[in-house]
Amino acid sequence: TKLIYAFGRGRAEGDARQTALLGGKGAALAEMSRIGLPVPPGLTLTSDVCRQFYEGGHVLPAGLMGQVKAGLATLGAQTGQRFAGTTAPLLLSVRSGAARSMPGMLDTVLNIGLNDETVVALGANSGDPRFAFDSYRRLLQRYGDTVMGVDQGVFEEIVREACHDAGVESEAGLAASALKSLVARFKAAIEAEAGMPFPQDAHTQLSGAISAVLSSWMSSRAIAYRRLNDIPEMPGTAVTLQAMVFGNRGRHSATGVAFTRDPSTGERRLYGEYLPGAQGEDVVAGTHTPLALTDAAPSSAERPAGRSLARAMPETFKAFAAACDRLERHYRDVQEVEFTIEEGRLWILQTRRAKRTAQAGLRIAVEMVDEGLINEREAVSRVDPASLEHLLHPMVDPNGAVDVVAAGLPASPGAAAGEIVFTSEEAMARAAKGIATVLVRPETSPDDIRGMNAAEAILTTRGGMTSHAAVIARGMGKPCVTGAASLRLDVEAGRLTGGGFDLKAGDIVTLDGSGGRVLAGTVEMIKPEPSGAFARLLGWADTIRRLRVRGNAETPADARAAHRFGAEGIGLCRTEHMVFEGERARLMREVILAPDEAGRRASLAELLPLQRADFVELFEIMQGQPVTIRLLDPPLHEFLPGSEEEITEVARGMRVPAERLRRRIAELGESNPMLGHRGCRLAISYPEIAEMQAQAILEAATEAAARTGAPVVPEIMVPLVSLRRELDFVKARVDAVAEAVAVQTGIRVEYLVGTMIELPRAALRADAIAETAEFFSFGTNDLTQTTLGISRDDSAAFLPDYLREGIIERDPFVTIDVDGVGDLMRMASERGRAVRPELRLGISGEHGGDPASIRFCEEIGLDYVSCSPYRVPIARLAAAQSAI
Ligand code: PEP
Ligand code: MG
Repeated sequence: TKLIYAFGRGRAEGDARQTALLGGKGAALAEMSRIGLPVPPGLTLTSDVCRQFYEGGHVLPAGLMGQVKAGLATLGAQTGQRFAGTTAPLLLSVRSGAARSMPGMLDTVLNIGLNDETVVALGANSGDPRFAFDSYRRLLQRYGDTVMGVDQGVFEEIVREACHDAGVESEAGLAASALKSLVARFKAAIEAEAGMPFPQDAHTQLSGAISAVLSSWMSSRAIAYRRLNDIPEMPGTAVTLQAMVFGNRGRHSATGVAFTRDPSTGERRLYGEYLPGAQGEDVVAGTHTPLALTDAAPSSAERPAGRSLARAMPETFKAFAAACDRLERHYRDVQEVEFTIEEGRLWILQTRRAKRTAQAGLRIAVEMVDEGLINEREAVSRVDPASLEHLLHPMVDPNGAVDVVAAGLPASPGAAAGEIVFTSEEAMARAAKGIATVLVRPETSPDDIRGMNAAEAILTTRGGMTSHAAVIARGMGKPCVTGAASLRLDVEAGRLTGGGFDLKAGDIVTLDGSGGRVLAGTVEMIKPEPSGAFARLLGWADTIRRLRVRGNAETPADARAAHRFGAEGIGLCRTEHMVFEGERARLMREVILAPDEAGRRASLAELLPLQRADFVELFEIMQGQPVTIRLLDPPLHEFLPGSEEEITEVARGMRVPAERLRRRIAELGESNPMLGHRGCRLAISYPEIAEMQAQAILEAATEAAARTGAPVVPEIMVPLVSLRRELDFVKARVDAVAEAVAVQTGIRVEYLVGTMIELPRAALRADAIAETAEFFSFGTNDLTQTTLGISRDDSAAFLPDYLREGIIERDPFVTIDVDGVGDLMRMASERGRAVRPELRLGISGEHGGDPASIRFCEEIGLDYVSCSPYRVPIARLAAAQSAI
């Protein structure tokens, strides 16, 4: 098979569609070559090479280097250079390129082909020996580390000494002669540490670098990143060998990264950073704070004064802006573009779909429709539903009082407070205990991924808007501030000082990622109102989707939120949540403690008007939309106090002896409460409870209809049914109550009686149950628990092990286990509808707000999904996407 694809000079083998084979980078380079953008020519080794590398036990496929050699000969002919030649040496970058971008996770080696001889030729040809030795020392430093396993600290120490001897601050201040002796010391260090010399032979260097890049695919950090981001192991990474262009070649050279629109806000303007006289990854590594591309870029007080690229090199900038425009139109999406300027000449090194904040993603999608670049369906399909949740996340209240510790760059929006931690390990350790943290680092490296994931927010004292920390945090939707240079950070001592504050690990700070500020303590936060773009996109989604979306709500506040976010009714009102507090809780406890039915009925009669008023309010808020009210579900002991203290207090409030309360609590104790006396079993033991609830619901419906004029059709739902006769029993009671209410009020309201399908037997016998039930609501929380036999309350103790070992791919309590639980749902839907074609089908477990599960609900033809109010927008968008 063909293992190598060439590109450059307006031509290419392969194109943008071949990301699996050529990697994102290889495919983009091929595409850019085709459309005539200035791309240094090169060769891409396909992901097949990676597969064969691992199959063969970490050796390069036989014959690969022969094919590479032939490809390089052609490349050399095009550039007028020769790889391993001594007069006009062709130098190469060796870069990874996975099908999906894994920023900074995989290795890269630049300047391959430099050795003691070619460095002299490079110096002579360029007339700049300093630049040549700077490139050589970069090669040694990276190759020594990545390929030969020499600790980076060894090189850093040597650099420190050299800078100290020369009396300069960084390697940028070293003269040619100093760099030359640095090279000598690097070589000696490599030989001492690795036990063999740095290879002078260019081909040996090249095969070493290719192997190293391939090996980095299986580094622990790359594996961790793939797990976190759901990236499959195969196909592996492609490897691109590309003719070097030098951003570190004199004053008119530079390297940088740009976004064709602002990745934080989505504003349409070229946005980015560059570093003059720098190479490759200096920008993304976050080790230097770069300069802005244009003068309009937001800056903080800490940003070093410097000239924008637009001002420093106006002609080159203009060419670059035009290239960016071209790329955005070509790909019809915002691009992140890496570029290098070598002596005033522009080269594009990579383009990829830009990572963006939720806010930016939304704005970009909507504005691109306005610009005619994409249509509405495309806009709807582009926005990640889960990202909408970030838009509703808290912000620092602009009117609240704050103490500013430092200002930095607003690298990723939103705000979060937490305890300061200085290491990723600490962030993970505290997260395991449920403690919110803010991870503070000089800069982050790919090794910090897990720590960043564990922290609520990330603060770095160095780095820019495109640093590793910034890019990753935006992807994770976490607030991030970078380049807070006024802070003095001593990781060893665990101290962070600045702005008159002296902070240590465990102190609380709030990170304002939208304003680029570090604030002392916790501050007032507000929930933002959804923007105009938000409403427009969801409006388009509503015209596309078939599935209806309801909210799970019982309090007026939740119902209002659900309504405001566009819910088309309430899919689950858990009545137990309405009696967990205050007077209602007291009455409920009286019901439970009553010695007989008469006693229970007396307390229920007192509870009735309170419940009725709650339902009236709910119906009014929902303005005639359907409301599904579920009869009492939890085991009764959940209403009783737990601790001794509470028992004494409750007993006093109820004027009963504490001893009696204690005895009743003991009586109600169960070994397996979730499989115990709950759900419809309560209604069978104590029908008077269900009767009171039915009466409250029906009277409320009568009252609300009279008040608002909008007819309410309450849907009364029976939980935890597994036998048709259970449902028959409860329905008969409800119907009798309805009849009595109609007689008494003279008004006959319409209502439905249905059931949750949340036990496997109910799913299996759905046909029989549908003879009684007028609707089904899949209770996938319990259905998952009972189908898998995994306690929903205890799964956290072992499911992470299952995920880590790959025994399951997703937490079944988050995303429906399609093969098992999903099969039951499909079967129940079919069997139920076979008996009652108009049977209304919904889902009200947590899965109702999970995009992947919503897709499945669409597939099996449910009528609606119901989820928590804040997830309603997510569900609207996900429902539309599953209909596209
Ligand atoms: C369910 O089991 O999925 C459900 C919605 O009910 P609850 O979570 O209240 O048990
Ligand atoms: Mg349930």
